[in-house]
Amino acid sequence: MILLDRVSKKYGKKGVALDKVSFFIEPKEFVVLVGASGAGKSTILKLLTREEKETSGKIVVGGVDYADLKEKDIALLRRKVGTVFQDFKLLPKRTVFENVAFAMEIVGMSNKEIKNTVPKVIELVGLAGKEKNYPDQLSGGEKQRVAIARAVVRQPKILIADEPTGNLDPKHSWDIVKLLERINKRGTTVIMTTHNQEILAKLNRRVIKLDHGRVVSDRVGFRLEDDESVDGSSDEPDAKSTGSRKVSSL
Ligand code: ADP
Repeated sequence: MILLDRVSKKYGKKGVALDKVSFFIEPKEFVVLVGASGAGKSTILKLLTREEKETSGKIVVGGVDYADLKEKDIALLRRKVGTVFQDFKLLPKRTVFENVAFAMEIVGMSNKEIKNTVPKVIELVGLAGKEKNYPDQLSGGEKQRVAIARAVVRQPKILIADEPTGNLDPKHSWDIVKLLERINKRGTTVIMTTHNQEILAKLNRRVIKLDHGRVVSDRVGFRLEDDESVDGSSDEPDAKSTGSRKVSSL
């Protein structure tokens, strides 16, 4: 589970990136964060991976209160939280297999474990047969599959996907979203950001919308006629929405 309770984040003295953001995400949920550029989406993701620290408020992930995190806990935390980005961030001089294996090597997993696990994950993401390809021998969609394989190979509880379809054409975008849904069905909480309205409409999942650092709506589903909402125009939180899962009711 992920709990944000009145979390604010200021960069420097003025820039308020998040203003008392609260939400609760159940284990195994699939949640989409939307909002215009600058609304605060990446800041939320960076707080969850502890790349940034909240200015005030409470963050609890999987029962761990981030206020109690020590330096040494952060590496452990990052094993529980896999990340995928718009620009894939693959190692260009390593093959598909090696890119995925690297995520296990750096946390000291044995060769045996690596040889056992990596092919299964490559198969899961639909890249069986491409193990020996280098990133520049893959399409954009395939590169993102490698990035997803690398993010899930350590079996994280949470997968964060920041604009995972941002560099992909519509067909590959939807394939990647379906893959994220498959991973979610296997028990991983997925938090994704997107600006892609067709994906939002088709996906029909919980959508948390941010505007100027605040949650302005939190509900299941998205209609194309709501399209302005993705661009961050204000609309009031909906009382019937999942946003009513307020922290106080936990
Ligand atoms: P989004 O991901 O929705 O585009 P961000 O979380 O990146 O939004 O940014 C939210 C706000 O915080 C923006 O006003 C942005 O300019 C500001 N911001 C983000 N990162 C930094 C930073 N490292 N230093 C100063 N301001 C930042």
